[in-house]
Amino acid sequence: MSEAVYPVGIVGGGFGALLTHTALRYLGFESREIVVLGDQPDPVATYRAFAWGLGQTVLRSESESHFLPADWPTFAVMDLLARRRLSAVRRSISRTFNPAVPDILAEAHAVAELTGYAQSFARCRVGEVIRGEGRAGPHFGLYDEEGRLRARARHVLLAMGHGPLAFPGVLGTARRDPALAARIVQAYEPKRYRPGGRYVVVGSGIAGVNEWVNVLLAGAECIALRRTPEPDEQDLNVPRCLFEAYGIDAYQRLDHAQRLQILAKVLKGTTPERRGWQELIAEGYRKGTFREVIGEITEVRSGPEGLVVDIRLGAGGTTGPLHVVGVSCATGFDKASASVPILRRLIERYDPPMEGPRIALDSNCGVPPLDRPDSRLAMIGIHANIVVPNGDTIAGLKYIARRFAADVLRAEGRRRRPFLARTRMHFRCTRRAVADIRALPDTPQLS
Ligand SMILES: Cc1cc2nc3c(=O)[nH]c(=O)nc-3n(C[C@H](O)[C@H](O)[C@H](O)COP(=O)(O)OP(=O)(O)OC[C@H]3O[C@@H](n4cnc5c(N)ncnc54)[C@H](O)[C@@H]3O)c2cc1C
Repeated sequence: MSEAVYPVGIVGGGFGALLTHTALRYLGFESREIVVLGDQPDPVATYRAFAWGLGQTVLRSESESHFLPADWPTFAVMDLLARRRLSAVRRSISRTFNPAVPDILAEAHAVAELTGYAQSFARCRVGEVIRGEGRAGPHFGLYDEEGRLRARARHVLLAMGHGPLAFPGVLGTARRDPALAARIVQAYEPKRYRPGGRYVVVGSGIAGVNEWVNVLLAGAECIALRRTPEPDEQDLNVPRCLFEAYGIDAYQRLDHAQRLQILAKVLKGTTPERRGWQELIAEGYRKGTFREVIGEITEVRSGPEGLVVDIRLGAGGTTGPLHVVGVSCATGFDKASASVPILRRLIERYDPPMEGPRIALDSNCGVPPLDRPDSRLAMIGIHANIVVPNGDTIAGLKYIARRFAADVLRAEGRRRRPFLARTRMHFRCTRRAVADIRALPDTPQLS
C-alpha cells in the first residue's frame, strides 16, 4: 500500500460508482486521482444480473436515464442517431419511451472505457472505512474484509448498492432450510417457471407484476399474493414529481421521520400500467391461470409438487394447504443500514444518528458525524434515498454523483476542466455510444 492519499475514493463498483467517476472526470479529475474499490470490475455487472433475473428488457425510467457526462443527447435522440428513425423521439414527447437495457449497458461500457474507469478501479471487497488524521491531513482509510489497508482518500463516496434480498416472515426461515431453499427465490434471482406448474408471487410492486407476467408467459399458473388491498398505479418506484429538482428540494426540507413516512407510502405497492402486461393478466383472469389473494403465507413445507403453503387471508380465514411448485418473492431488499457489513461497522464505531434502522444522512447525503467539507464521506444509491427519494435510480444517482463531484472539486480548490476539453470528452462518449448501440439488435418497447 502506498502512503499516497487519493483525492477521491469510491467504495463499490456499480452504476453509482460509474456515474460518480464520470462526473469527477468531466469536472477535472484524472483517473489516477480517483480510486474505485469494488468487487466487480464491470460497473454494469450487478444491475445486469438483477435485470436478467427479472427478465427486464427496457428501463422503467425514461430518456434522461443515461450515463453520458452531460445531459444531452437523451436516449431518444441517441436512438434517432443510431437507428435513423423518429419513433423514440416521438414517444419521448409523450413520455412513453423507455430505453432498452442492452442499449444503456452499451452506453455505460462506452463511457467507462473512454473516461478511464478501469484505470481507477482496484478489485477489493471493502470491510471498513476509518477516519484518519495526522500528517496526511483529514482522510479515510479504506480497509478490505481481512482488515488490510487498501487505500486512503480525502473524500469518500459509499456506493455499495442494495443490502441483502428480503424474504418476509416464514419465507425467510424456509429459505434457510436446505430442503426448501431452492423453491423460494427472489424476483431478482435467475429462475425458470415450469409450464403447467402453479406458483405464488409475493409482492405487488413493479418486480411483482413482472413476475406475474413471467409466470403466465411460461404457461404456468400464478397466485399473486399481496399484503395491502390497493397498489398505486405508478410507472416508477416514486411519483414523477419527486424526480424533479423541485420535488427533491421539497423533500429535503422535511425532517427524517416525515421523509420515511413518504418513502414508505411511495415505494411500496406500486405497479406499472403497461398495456402488454395488462392484456396478459386479463387473459390469465379469464382462463383461471391468474388469481390475486390478499394475505400472508403462514406455513411452508415440502410437498409432492415442490411446496405446500398455507395463506392467512386478509378477509379472515385461511386458504388451507395449497400445493405449488415454488414461491417467488418480489419483496425487494433489506434497507436497514446494519444489513450491510461496512455500514454496520461504521454504526458500531462512530454511532451516527439513526432514523429507525437507517443512518440519518445530512441533506447533502453526508454521513454524520464523519462528513466535513474538507473531507467528505457521503452515500449514494438506495441508502441515500432517505435524502434523495429516487437515489436508487439512474436519475437520482446522477443527481448525487454530480453534487458530490462539485463539492470535492471545490474542497480541493481545483479549477474545472476547460469547456472545450469537457465538450470533447462528452462528444467522444456520445459518438462511441451511438456506434455501439447501432450494432445492437432493436429491443421492442413494451407500452
Ligand atoms: C431489476 C432492476 C431494475 C432497475 N430498473 C431501473 C430503471 O429502469 N431505471 C432506473 O433509473 N433505475 C433502475 N434500477 C435501479 C438502479 O439503477 C440500480 O439499482 C443501480 O444499479 C444502483 O446503483 P448502485 O451503484 O447503488 O448499486 P449497484 O449497481 O448494485 O453497484 C454496487 C456495487 O458495489 C459492490 N459492492 C457492494 N459492497 C461492496 C464492498 N463492501 N466492497 C466493494 N464493492 C462492494 C456490489 O457488488 C456492486 O457491484 C433498477 C434496479 C434493479 C435491481
